Amino acid sequence: MPDIIRLLPDSLANQIAAGEVVQRPASAIKELLENSIDAGATDIKVIIKEAGKTLMQVMDNGKGMSETDARMSLERHATSKISKTEDLFSIRTMGFRGEALASMAAVSQMEVRTRQPQSELGTLLYIEGSELKKQEPVACEPGTSISIKNLFYNVPARRNFLKSNGVEMKHITEEFQRVALANPEVGFSLYQNDLETYNLPAGKLSQRIVNLFGKNYKEQLASCQEETAEISILGYIGKPEFAKKTRGEQFFFVNKRFVRSNYLNHAVMNAFEGLLPEGSYPFYVLFIDIDPVHVDVNVHPTKTEIKFDDERTVYAIVRAAARQALATHNITPALDFSA
Ligand code: ADP
Ligand code: MG
Repeated sequence: MPDIIRLLPDSLANQIAAGEVVQRPASAIKELLENSIDAGATDIKVIIKEAGKTLMQVMDNGKGMSETDARMSLERHATSKISKTEDLFSIRTMGFRGEALASMAAVSQMEVRTRQPQSELGTLLYIEGSELKKQEPVACEPGTSISIKNLFYNVPARRNFLKSNGVEMKHITEEFQRVALANPEVGFSLYQNDLETYNLPAGKLSQRIVNLFGKNYKEQLASCQEETAEISILGYIGKPEFAKKTRGEQFFFVNKRFVRSNYLNHAVMNAFEGLLPEGSYPFYVLFIDIDPVHVDVNVHPTKTEIKFDDERTVYAIVRAAARQALATHNITPALDFSA
């Protein structure tokens, strides 16, 4: 019998891998924004057309890429962020898997413009379905601009699976809000079909919260701070009377990375015990800073699930921080005389 196993061509391997990294326009926005943050950008502009289905463009003023790196960045497992196994235990960057650009390039028509501040000229690349169609010098601002056009143009099943513009835009906005919350010292703007829908000047976290969610949040924030040798908690929790009937305004960031955690959410809810009506959810934005050696962010390609080596201690500190914040703002459970 003849042998039948072969290595897949890169373009096909990338397209398959893309399924995990890029599920919808919002996942591309998350990856692009995180790359801009990792590049040290202080100003990031996002342009969206048709809920990201025809265009998503992220422009930053970060450190840019050399001509060679710009080409290299499109390869799978190509990254400037780690180089050896030990690095996995000290990750401080958002990215490290080297998969995002390769994945996005496999399932879209992608244009990259990038210039290092010290170079006179930048580089322009045009890639279609993993295939490099054009690479040439270009005059451009320092920093990087990446456009993803016609996402999934070559994966009809995926494209047809996309939801309405309203739903896809909601997901994009969520990702944008998370990155903007995690990085208040960075200025952001978001344009949706040529209309500016967010303009967030660099500033403090409290200001960022107000700019993102509304003026009425200002009076509702109880500051939260707790620190041990191993871990620090910083942020705001909303006062109990400000709690809403719907979820969606609960944010945990571990080393600036947005994470979902029912376990940690429970720690905060526990601190609110007796303060909240049944079925209501308090607002919170909490930053957990911890030595990366104690966290595994490599649980899932999107990195929103993480593992702590000592989950219980983190739980206890988060709960203590939330309790302390409520106590400092004189928020205590109403005395119950019925017992
Ligand atoms: P990762 O972020 O995991 O390293 P990516 O595929 O997202 O993988 O990016 C590959 C590489 O391309 C990055 O490691 C970085 O060196 C470079 N890069 C990507 N986006 C930018 C950007 N906006 N500015 C500067 N360099 C970038
Ligand atoms: Mg990345």
